Amino acid sequence: MDAWVVTHPGPILSRPLRQVRVPVPSPGPGEVLVRVEVCAVCRTDLHLAEGDLRPRRPRTTPGHEAVGRVVAAGPGAGRLSPGTRVGAAWLRSTCGHCRYCLRGSENLCPRSTYTGWDADGGYAEYLTVPEDFAYPLPPETPAEKLAPLLCAGIIGYRALLRSDLPPGGRLGIYGFGASAHLTAQIAIAQGATVHVLTRSARARELAMTLGAASAGDAADAPPEPLDSAILFAPVGELVPVALAALERGGTLAVAGIHLSDIPPLTYQRHLFQERTLRSVTANTRADGRAYLELAMVHPPRVTTVPYPLAEADRALADLAADQVEGAAVLTVSAP
Ligand SMILES: [Zn+2]
Ligand SMILES: [Zn+2]
Repeated sequence: MDAWVVTHPGPILSRPLRQVRVPVPSPGPGEVLVRVEVCAVCRTDLHLAEGDLRPRRPRTTPGHEAVGRVVAAGPGAGRLSPGTRVGAAWLRSTCGHCRYCLRGSENLCPRSTYTGWDADGGYAEYLTVPEDFAYPLPPETPAEKLAPLLCAGIIGYRALLRSDLPPGGRLGIYGFGASAHLTAQIAIAQGATVHVLTRSARARELAMTLGAASAGDAADAPPEPLDSAILFAPVGELVPVALAALERGGTLAVAGIHLSDIPPLTYQRHLFQERTLRSVTANTRADGRAYLELAMVHPPRVTTVPYPLAEADRALADLAADQVEGAAVLTVSAP
């Protein structure tokens, strides 16, 4: 099969990815083999190709937003019959018996593994995924509309849960990229009033067409105090700005993996009156299932830019240059 592998992590223009011919993988115990239809391109793939995230094994195929059909089952698997459409997302396995797994926080499992980092991902014609970590997906929805939900959507949804937004509450969203725009749509569908705060004029325009109540610059105060806020921009200077915009008792969730340094906070202004500041780490399978169910009831508007599998390196270069309007997706095979 055709697949891409990361050979020498480095700047995307140094071509750290190579397209190769490799045998179709065989599914291990508990795994299914999936023929990939579409794999969306995530910024984390770029971090892996460029070496910001250290490789965990050599020559790994990236891609953790893959949609495809089950074609074979390994020993002990078989709950998902051949032909079932599934999604393979970032979280690939957890240990199942540590204190975090046992209390429903498997996103914190120290032995968790990740698709496209610990195991080969979806920049290929086939991949394997543990059956218990594959998300069944509807067969009738175009695959390119589903793939971006598998990382940007699910992880944004966990950030929304972590922001403790009360029903019908006022939510501030700082930064408005792929994940934020999916999260805003779910919050609005659930009855929230959403205020978007971002530097980009184009993103502010998009926010208004998606139903935001207001859209302002990242440093602006929202037009009303917020019950909750999510910081999607990786900018630590916005932490005190967002905390100061919260109503008493409000919560700020920081969604990103990376954040620049947070400037000193003033207790009275930023935290007193029981304001809460918290981080978000990956997601659990329960988050993934809950989000995908909601997204089927309230299908989000997803803008995609298709690339053939053979041009995965161009998709990543375009992403690095901020030249993708929406989510880049690799089209791999017909359903
Ligand atoms: Zn565990
Ligand atoms: Zn991702």
